[in-house]
Formats: sequence, C-alpha cells, structure tokens
Amino acid sequence: MSTIDRNLRARDLRAEHKRLEEALARSLAELDAVRHRMAPLMPESELKIFDAHKMILQDDEFVGRIRDIVASGYAAESALFRVIDELSAQLLAVADGYLRERATDFRDVGHRLLRHMRQDERRNQFGKSTILVAEELTLSQLTLVSHENLVGIALESGGTTSHAALLARAFEIPTVVGVDHLMESVAEGDNLVLDGNSGIVYVNPAPEVEREYQVLHKRYEAFRRDLMAGGDEPAATRDGNRVELLANIALYHDIPMALKYGAEGVGLMRTEFSFLTYEDFPDENQQIALYTRMLEALGKRPVTICTLDIGADKYPPYMRVPREDNPFLGWRSIRISLEMPSLFKVQLRAILRAAVRHDVKIMFPMISSLEELRRARELLAEAQGELFREGLEHNPAVKVGIMVEVPSAVWLAPRLIREVDFFSIGTNDLIQYLLAADRNNPRVAHLYEALHPAVLSAIAEIVSVARAAGKEVCICGEMASDPLATLLLVGMGLDQLSLSPLFIPVIRKIVRETNYRTARLIAHDTLEMASVQEIKGYLIERYRDLGLIKLVEMFR
Ligand code: PEP
Ligand code: MG
Repeated sequence: MSTIDRNLRARDLRAEHKRLEEALARSLAELDAVRHRMAPLMPESELKIFDAHKMILQDDEFVGRIRDIVASGYAAESALFRVIDELSAQLLAVADGYLRERATDFRDVGHRLLRHMRQDERRNQFGKSTILVAEELTLSQLTLVSHENLVGIALESGGTTSHAALLARAFEIPTVVGVDHLMESVAEGDNLVLDGNSGIVYVNPAPEVEREYQVLHKRYEAFRRDLMAGGDEPAATRDGNRVELLANIALYHDIPMALKYGAEGVGLMRTEFSFLTYEDFPDENQQIALYTRMLEALGKRPVTICTLDIGADKYPPYMRVPREDNPFLGWRSIRISLEMPSLFKVQLRAILRAAVRHDVKIMFPMISSLEELRRARELLAEAQGELFREGLEHNPAVKVGIMVEVPSAVWLAPRLIREVDFFSIGTNDLIQYLLAADRNNPRVAHLYEALHPAVLSAIAEIVSVARAAGKEVCICGEMASDPLATLLLVGMGLDQLSLSPLFIPVIRKIVRETNYRTARLIAHDTLEMASVQEIKGYLIERYRDLGLIKLVEMFR
C-alpha cells in the first residue's frame, strides 16, 4: 500500500470516473466467481467473507467518498487509498478486536479494486515449486493465487488455525506460520527449504542441507504413494483384530482430506473452531445448517460430535471472558456450557435435529465428576423433551459419551461408565493434567510425554473399565497419530483410533502389518516399565524386529 501515491492528480476526470466504475463492477463479479469456486471447500459461515467484501463495494458511503475525492481531481487509486487510510485509522483506534479486523477487510477490498483499476488481470502466477512468503495472508488473497504451483507457504504472523492456514491445509500446501523475522530474512528468488514438521524455514541452505531434504522429501513421497495404495483395505491386524480408524475434524474443509485418506468416520468433530468463524454465537438454525452440511458430506459414516470446548487457548472473539491466571484450570469447556445452559441447549437441540438421518454420537468434553455428567445429561434430556413437545423432528436415540481427559475421570471411570455409552480418551489434555506440564509451553515440552508410564497406565485403566462394561473406547488425542504408540494402543484393546486424517494411511499400515497377539505382548511388557526412556527404547526395538521402524522414523 505504501507504493500508492495519495496525491496523484487525475489527468482526465471522466476517464478516471470510468476507471473507478469499471473496477467496481469487475471486483464485484470476481467476488461472485471466487465465492462460487470456494463453495465446495468452505463452510457457509466462512463464505460470508466474500459477501462482506461485496457489501463494502456496494456501500454508498464508502464508494460515494471515493467518487467525491475523484471528483475533486484525484486519480482513482489515490482516492481509494485516501478513503482506506481514513477508515483504517478510525477502525484501528477502536480497541474492539472485531472492528480492528474489519480494517483488514477494507484493505483487502482496496487491493482487489486497485488490481482492477490497473487492469492487472493476471491472477498471481507463480513459477513451478514456489514457496509463498508473506507477513500475513488473508483468505481472499489465498483464493486469488494460483495455488497449483505453490509447494509451501511461510507466514510471519498468524496461527495454525487462522483461516488462511486452514484453507492451505485443505489444499494440502505445507504451511508454516508465526516465523519470527521472516520478512527481513528472505528476499525474492531465495532458495528455501520449509520443514513443515519442525516449523523451520532454511534460507539459502548449504548444499548438503538441501540435498538431505531432497532425499527426505523423495523418500517421504514414495512412502505416501505406497501407503495410499492400501487405502481400501480395512485396518485389521493379521490375525483379524479390527481397529476402526476415524478422523478428527474441525471445519467443513477438513472433510475432503478425511475421505481421501480413508477415514471410516469421525471420532471427534470439534465444534468450537466452526464457532470461531461466526460473528456471534450461531443460533439453532445456523448450527443445524452447519452440522447438516458436514454430516451430509460424510455420508453414512458415524460421527461423534463433541460439544463446545471453548476456553483456555480458544475463545470466540465475540465472547468476553475475564483474564485468568490458569486458564487451562479455569473456566473452560463443559464448565462454560453448564454455566450457560440456554446456550448449551441450543447446541444440543441443533445436534439432535441435524442427527435425524445420521449416525451421530454426542460427546461431552472435560468431564471431571459425576455431577457434571449428570447435569449435562439432564440438559440433553430437557432439549429432547422440548423438541418432542414442539413436534420438531429429531433423533432421540443418539449415544452419549464423555471425553476422558481429566485425571479425576480416570479414578471415577468405573462409576462414569455406567452412565454413558462410550469413552473417548483425550490424551492432549490428559497428559498435561496428569504430568502437570502445560501442553502449549515449549519450556516444559520435554516433560509433556505421551509414553510416560503414568499416562500409559491411565489409558490401560480406562480401556479395561470400558471393555469390562462392554462399551466402546476410542482415543482421540494426538497420541493416536503417533506411529510409535500404535502397537501399544492396539495391544491395550482400543477398538477405535481417531486422528488427524493425514496419518490414517501410516497407522493403517502398522495395524495391518502386525498380529494382535504380538501387540498384546508389547502392551503387557510396556505397562511393567517404569521410565519413558525404557519404554521408548523397548518400543523402538520391537518396531525394528517387526520391520516397522522406517514408518516410525518417517512419520514421527
Ligand atoms: C484432547 O484433549 O485430547 C482433545 C482431543 O481435545 P482438545 O485437543 O481439543 O483439547
Ligand atoms: Mg481436550
């Protein structure tokens, strides 16, 4: 934007007005086209960004102000950016996060108009194997680039759940975000290696680093092709023990990837990420539309919908929450839902109504006591009663389970299991609470360990309680996608693993290459061990014996 001269005078006023009007018309048509192109990839709620941008272009005050400045003798682009500067300054002066974000929308619309004023019709074309480096990337910028040639995206700002990062994931473009000093370290034409696993960007790396990554990349691609070839085979051990491989999904555009990698269903649909994309809590009809669209895209596959798990590190921008010293031990997840029963019931009603023709289970997150479970069930029963009285079609037979992710729930497992249909183990939180190691704090990352003996014995306990009660047990934390843990988890008796879709092929391969009997022995031996080091050493040995170590090295 700094390259635009705000004082450029118009040479021919009529021509300048014409340029502005044509750019407006082209921008509007382009937004319609992009919305259409993106519709299969994004949920309706996110497509609204394009409508919002159209509204800006149709806003009399915005456009009128630009026209006035042109009429006073300025070139169209100068007039445009004078108005955008004014608006941005006003919006940025307001503390409200939502209004500040609107400044980005105005800038985004401004760049679209500018492109059309300059008749720069080419979409941002990239040469083959380009890595896009930017300070930030808005959703509409990403939809404009010809992503076919992009092999990576590196951004200085942004989080992994920013809209653009999520869309990049749907396109399967490796993306690294939050890279400090990125823009000052990279120049156009630099040679980059982007390691999506570690989040490191190497700028003009030494030839041996580059070679090493080329070899790794080739090997990785060959492995993936090989793994994908077994896509239709069921995940069952050689001696016939079936393990259902399900996907963890958050947004609508995670679904194509889940299907591509052969997910048999969804073991964890996190609803809070969709909520973050609305401007206020979505109402019952909006939620019905959201869930229905996702369930329809998943066909007949079973889907476990987890009720809202906000708080700690994920708050919708429209929710005002007081700052807490220990947010992970604070007001989060089911605690919020139970304290805001009317909001919670809207979600429960919407799930029950969307579940009419689908195999849906409801899961409550972060249950730490029987009282919480009973209160949640009471509200569910109330929601069902209301729907029944109102004569609204719904599914009264959805199964109900809990995410076991708080240590107290492990101790209470024998009592909790009597009042639910299934358990799903949320290792991401369970590990941090059991080991008192913050899951987001890099300083204690070495203490946050899934293969810790205390974690393993907690998992074994939960599984055995569920199995003794004849109920299903799943694991839906990140541990389910760790290939080094697969044999152990299968051997412990888990019948479902729910994981990031990208890892389904490798986990399927490991399951298919082993015997349940062997996995049981491995689980038995491991549970006797007292230290992480011993456990990891032992598992690596076993994987080596079984010829599976390469898979672990490649995908861990
Ligand atoms: C978990 O805690 O393991 C889990 C699956 O939920 P989240 O990561 O959303 O807290
Ligand atoms: Mg959790």
